[in-house]
Amino acid sequence: MNKAQQIKEEIHALASKIDELKSDLKDMQQQCEHHFTGDLAYQRCEKCHYVEVMHY
Ligand SMILES: [Zn+2]
Repeated sequence: MNKAQQIKEEIHALASKIDELKSDLKDMQQQCEHHFTGDLAYQRCEKCHYVEVMHY
């Protein structure tokens, strides 16, 4: 396998890992009993880092 191929495979593997992590985080955020901190316009859960932007 040449170097370019090796790099592409590595990118692909990392991209899959990122998707997996995003999905793990989403699951966590769905199960979290949020505890928001922040101001009225922008609040973030300090437990799972879920961000809620308020629209007025
Ligand atoms: Zn949360």
